[in-house]
Amino acid sequence: MHKQIADRLTAWQAQQLRELPWRRDPAGARDAYSVWVSEVMAQQTRLSVVEAYFNRWMEQFPTLEALASADQQEVLKLWEGLGYYSRARNLHRAAQIVVSEFGGQLPRTRAELLTLPGIGEYTAGAILSLAFGQHEPVLDGNAKRVISRLWDIETRIDLRSTENRLWRLSRKMVEAASAPGAMNEGLMELGALVCRRRNPLCHGCPVQSNCLAHGRGVEEERPVRAPGQKVPHLEFAAAIIWEDVPGQSRMLISQRPEPGLLGGLWSFPNGAKEADDEDLQACLRRAVRESLGVAVRVGERAETVEHTFTHFRMTLVAFHARITEGEPQAVGAADWCWTRLNEIEKFPCPVPDRKIIAALRKLAKESQAAT
Ligand code: SF4
Repeated sequence: MHKQIADRLTAWQAQQLRELPWRRDPAGARDAYSVWVSEVMAQQTRLSVVEAYFNRWMEQFPTLEALASADQQEVLKLWEGLGYYSRARNLHRAAQIVVSEFGGQLPRTRAELLTLPGIGEYTAGAILSLAFGQHEPVLDGNAKRVISRLWDIETRIDLRSTENRLWRLSRKMVEAASAPGAMNEGLMELGALVCRRRNPLCHGCPVQSNCLAHGRGVEEERPVRAPGQKVPHLEFAAAIIWEDVPGQSRMLISQRPEPGLLGGLWSFPNGAKEADDEDLQACLRRAVRESLGVAVRVGERAETVEHTFTHFRMTLVAFHARITEGEPQAVGAADWCWTRLNEIEKFPCPVPDRKIIAALRKLAKESQAAT
């Protein structure tokens, strides 16, 4: 059964494979650096979005050496908007290690690849099979769904024992494959295009006759998920601290510390409410004091932004503010600086801050038109 499934997925992959810039040679081995970058970018992100980022990345960092010698801020700027910024920081650090410890060539064993920052079991399997043609398994979300359905796995997908079983099945398939990279890609591609989470297209599926869940009519009940958990909602306040006149002078941005959420990126100083009865202005005064060691007067509300991260939903309210006491210092922040609305583009900023910047630009344009 493993061999038959592997052969069918490989044949299907050859017919169906979407044209993407890192798949220049679908029949043969690919450039390991391209595979690595594209696989890291594609985690948690749709391929249609990844394509533009990948092309820009390759223009700026065409080789692993070029990435290794880049400045981290350049790397984060190129990643801006893709989210999960630790992926970019890890790619950068790992490239430097590959240059210094592996002679600039990505290692060809799972054990060595796993020593590099940001390379986990999945990425290692993708690099080894897609770039080096090794019989090494992959298991991303799409592959998990396909395998759970093919073998009608009834245990919860979040359990370690289920995960281990899925890895074993994925390994058996790739070991039976004549073209391991193509088979792995076919497995993941089938999950993305055909064996979809909702309404799988079983009538056009190359492994329909092998699929136990489909045969039993339970495909939409697989994989078995853990009972849903509510995503917490947090309220944040951000300060647009103006040096002089709001809208016409410089404003202060601070760099987020590493490690940590959005580490290395620049944002308007902000903080989350620590108690339900803490008002947003008080929260903001506290957050600015903790990160920059200054007291601020909080002025008018400028913009409200909603954003969802993996583990929480945020409502971020941005206020105009002025320093009333003290000189800014990087107390809790990694760094800080004054910048202007027309200069802020050069800093890598998280999506919520980019929304605030867009609102400020709109306001500036409107006030220019009115004068
Ligand atoms: Fe998925 Fe349906 Fe194919 Fe089974 S038959 S692998 S459920 S698309």
